[in-house]
Amino acid sequence: MRRVAIIGAGQAGLQLALGLQGAGYDVTVVSERTADEVRNGRVMSTQLMFGPALALEWAAGLNLWDDLAPVMSGFEMTQWDPAAQASRSRFAASFDDEVRSVDQRLKLSVWLELFETRGGRVEYRAVGAEELPEIAGRHDLTVIATGRGALSCLFGRDAQRSLYDSPQRTLACFYASGVEGLGAASDAYARVTGVSPVGDAIVMRALTVGGRCDILLIEGKFGGPYDCWADRPVPEEGLRRALDLLRVYAPWEYERFAKSEPTDAGAALYGAVTPAVRHGVAALGDGQYVLGMADAVVVNDPITGQGANNAARSAAHYLDAIVRRGTLPFDGPWMRQTFEDYWEHARHVHAFTDLMLRQPPADHLGRLLGAAFEYPAIAHRFTNGYADPLDYRDWLMDPASAGRYLAEIVRDG
Ligand SMILES: Cc1cc2nc3c(=O)[nH]c(=O)nc-3n(C[C@H](O)[C@H](O)[C@H](O)COP(=O)(O)OP(=O)(O)OC[C@H]3O[C@@H](n4cnc5c(N)ncnc54)[C@H](O)[C@@H]3O)c2cc1C
Repeated sequence: MRRVAIIGAGQAGLQLALGLQGAGYDVTVVSERTADEVRNGRVMSTQLMFGPALALEWAAGLNLWDDLAPVMSGFEMTQWDPAAQASRSRFAASFDDEVRSVDQRLKLSVWLELFETRGGRVEYRAVGAEELPEIAGRHDLTVIATGRGALSCLFGRDAQRSLYDSPQRTLACFYASGVEGLGAASDAYARVTGVSPVGDAIVMRALTVGGRCDILLIEGKFGGPYDCWADRPVPEEGLRRALDLLRVYAPWEYERFAKSEPTDAGAALYGAVTPAVRHGVAALGDGQYVLGMADAVVVNDPITGQGANNAARSAAHYLDAIVRRGTLPFDGPWMRQTFEDYWEHARHVHAFTDLMLRQPPADHLGRLLGAAFEYPAIAHRFTNGYADPLDYRDWLMDPASAGRYLAEIVRDG
């Protein structure tokens, strides 16, 4: 039986571990936290997942919360100028497929327990780089799925594929209960309110450890009013501060969140993400290699909600590649090819996310989003591209294709 070590028990590592376990591999997961520590810890993400990624979880039998996790039926985007209160532009469109968010504290703690219950071996510790040769020596394949943790430094940054070398937004995220609807269809939507020089307030519904909740993610531009979390306030103080901001920069969200409270003691997360593409394979010396996966090697800012979707895709892709390899060695060239095949899709996700971060915004993006307020066909296509950003390649990513697409839409009315 082939032996695989997976370092890191996140979306990518656990989905791959459970898949390999089901396919008869001898899998060891190394996790720096127990299931209870994950469940009772701090929130880690907003983990909005779109149809194609959810389908991969369904196919793997890991969709354990379908009856409980609220489905978001559409997407609403508002551009708002608080100084000139009249200039509010808004579009809404329905998602063609299901969109859900299950708190990773819930999902990953249960998946970790499931892996152990099914006979999987879990070693609980934080792996240091110096341990990797010994681990790689004991296994046919070692996969590094440690997210943005320190081990990702093993994989050198790919300067040609990485546009940014520093964070482009500040982040503050709150899980809240007691959020009230406004009696609008958009109550059940994922919603973004953008204020040009300030940043975005992103809102969605989710299932957390204690039941249903709403999540507020504030993506702030550096130096602006949303950039105010350096003191890492406790969730109550953080949410109170967020409400003061919403009152000015997204008043309709303020109305919804005005009476809300943090769901629990771990309900707030602050930080900033450096987008990066790294080389997918790291050499340990003596002919040993380890294979990087998901956020350990390709990191996106959460502004487009893509990282967990990518992690699900990478797990499914690596599982397939490992099984297809049969009894042949998992050598350096195979690892490089496996990562490159994954990158072939991930590059579209990364390019879209980089485009959405760009400052000042690209002219053609501004023109297309501006037209989406007028043309429902654009709003619908933009909304559903999140599920698979490959679609944006043909009409959103560069000025020429954006111009052609816009001309077609205007011509056809
Ligand atoms: C605020 C925020 C909002 C987000 N919102 C979304 C969203 O809406 N949709 C979306 O798709 N993505 C979102 N993301 C991104 C998404 O959460 C990540 O891309 C995804 O979780 C990456 O999965 P992963 O398995 O690669 O890494 P992780 O989920 O980070 O898992 C890595 C695991 O490895 C463990 N680990 C780290 N180092 C070690 C070590 N040395 N030894 C042992 N274990 C170790 C960690 O504890 C962790 O459990 C968001 C991220 C943030 C920060």
